[in-house]
Amino acid sequence: MGEPQPQDNSNRQPNWAAIAAIVFLLAFYAFFAWQPGSKEPTYDIPYSQFRYFLERGDVVQLTLTGQRVDGELNSASNIGPAGEAARHFRTWLPELNDQSLLPDIKRHAVELKVKPSSQEDGGTRLLLGLLPWIVLLGFYFWFMRRLTRNASGLGRGGELGKFLETPLKGKAEMPKVTFEDVAGQDNAKREVQELVEYLKSPERYTRLGAEVPKGVLLMGAPGTGKTLMAKALAGEAGVPFFSISGSEFIEVFVGVGASRVRKMFEEAKKRAPCIIFIDELDSVGRVRGTGLGGGNDEREQTLNQILAEMDGFSGHEAIIVVAATNRPDVLDPALLRPGRFDRHITLDLPDQKARLAILKVHSKKLPLARDVDMEKIASGTPGFSGADIKNLCNEAAINAVRYQRNEVTMQDFDEMRDRLLLGTVRTMAIQQEERHRLAVHEAGHTLLAYYLPHADPLYKVSIIPRGSALGVTQQLPHEERHTLPEPYLKDRLVVMMGGRVAEKIFLGDVSSGADDDIHQATQLARAMVARWGMSEEIGPVDLRESEEHPFLGREIAQPRRFSESSAKAVDNAVRSLLSDAETAAEQLMFQHKPQMENMIRLLEDRETLEKGDIDACLGNQEHTSSHYNEIAK
Ligand code: ADP
Ligand code: ZN
Repeated sequence: MGEPQPQDNSNRQPNWAAIAAIVFLLAFYAFFAWQPGSKEPTYDIPYSQFRYFLERGDVVQLTLTGQRVDGELNSASNIGPAGEAARHFRTWLPELNDQSLLPDIKRHAVELKVKPSSQEDGGTRLLLGLLPWIVLLGFYFWFMRRLTRNASGLGRGGELGKFLETPLKGKAEMPKVTFEDVAGQDNAKREVQELVEYLKSPERYTRLGAEVPKGVLLMGAPGTGKTLMAKALAGEAGVPFFSISGSEFIEVFVGVGASRVRKMFEEAKKRAPCIIFIDELDSVGRVRGTGLGGGNDEREQTLNQILAEMDGFSGHEAIIVVAATNRPDVLDPALLRPGRFDRHITLDLPDQKARLAILKVHSKKLPLARDVDMEKIASGTPGFSGADIKNLCNEAAINAVRYQRNEVTMQDFDEMRDRLLLGTVRTMAIQQEERHRLAVHEAGHTLLAYYLPHADPLYKVSIIPRGSALGVTQQLPHEERHTLPEPYLKDRLVVMMGGRVAEKIFLGDVSSGADDDIHQATQLARAMVARWGMSEEIGPVDLRESEEHPFLGREIAQPRRFSESSAKAVDNAVRSLLSDAETAAEQLMFQHKPQMENMIRLLEDRETLEKGDIDACLGNQEHTSSHYNEIAK
């Protein structure tokens, strides 16, 4: 079901490789069939006829080779199928041993040769059977090698290209996976839900002229369920799912990747609404022109083809191209432009709650012993991805079988978890101690963001690593801000200091974890002083040292247009802004020490706290700011 129709072969070019192989094989067989010494014709005769010749004394010589009998008559006889005369014949001994044969041979004084070659013969026969395949394989490899070298010269769509791409063509499947199979990932599911609606009835959207998404980029660490999510999207909408992986194109012949992409889109257009899934987009979609040599051609051609196909959508095709990557940072910006992969969905490593849900999904079919405590497994596997958890369930079951138990016990889970932690867990498994520090650090940011009146409201705090960051405190801007008032910026500086200050107060020392905080705070403070005139001493003067390039979005050095003393003054002002922020952070944190302790504990326990959890944890203490109640809906 769901296989694309086979292409009609009428317009296919002759398959030169196959033809060459066949010619070669024929020549090969002809060579072996020709046997020296059989210049005179030899005919097969019935055994009974052979016995007749023998009885008459016409046979002069016999060679027995296993069951085969080759013989020579004293004069030509009409033994050919059309009565041709010949002296050489061949026949086969009956399975039932003919007891009288040897005595008869002896009696007629026939020269008898016996070849002990039943094995030897089997050996040659085996060799003869295998040789064509060996030759064929050798030929195949030789041909492929040659082709890879020359294919760029042939241009795409050449005969050889066509021959090659056929077996690589994308296949459609109808996935049975639904959102129910994807545990956790609620945000991602919510975003994908809209696409399901669209795929189910695209006319509704196009009739209204609504802008429909073409490209969706799923971002997340390996094993977070990107493929699963894409399949679930197709499964929920009940549409075909075409898939290719970017990495397949790397070792393939030049031109094949691009033409395969073209074929797949063609096929997909016929079967719309549907999903095209491109796994490992980063392997074809890296920033162009960075590699060396011609190895890049294939990648670039493939990438260009994908872009061309997406740009070529008229807007009526109900096709959504879903791509997955765990390296969104290396993607060519051209891929992310509007009309291409402009919809971004992040899949996070699961927190404890999500891990519990994933555990439940994958242990559903396992016979679990009573002592298995899912909650405990979930809390003991921080940093595990969905795929890791699936793997854990699998390994635990195998372990149970190994010990010939018919139930999977807690011990199986524990043992296998430890083994996976040592070995194959691909993602960052956080050590207990480090986890505590992370919780302290993030709780620091969160507490300050909660109590400071002008800070952006909190959205979520997490100590699950994502990307290169170990933990995050996410705040949502109250509304889209176009100007940044000074009190807001000052509070922001204080929140940035929160992580470092918390480590200092609750752990007695600081770590490198505040690196990015300090960097960002310094940049912000510098902008406040040198661009926005927010320092009393400096006043409203533009003292920027660099300027953001409007297109590249990165800083470019500019000749300095102000004096050394001005520069010093800016540095001093920046320093005082930052140390003020640090002092404010310390004060606020000392005031709320018990709340901090609560929050650290809760965060360590649950790993992710949503806005509601944070309110519940901190909100029962009196606090004066009404800012957060305002936005509570
Ligand atoms: P990715 O494409 O992100 O590398 P996959 O989709 O291939 O990850 O995930 C591998 C497997 O891990 C899936 O087939 C699924 O069984 C399991 N898995 C990952 N995430 C989840 C999840 N959220 N819920 C249930 N199973 C999951
Ligand atoms: Zn921080």
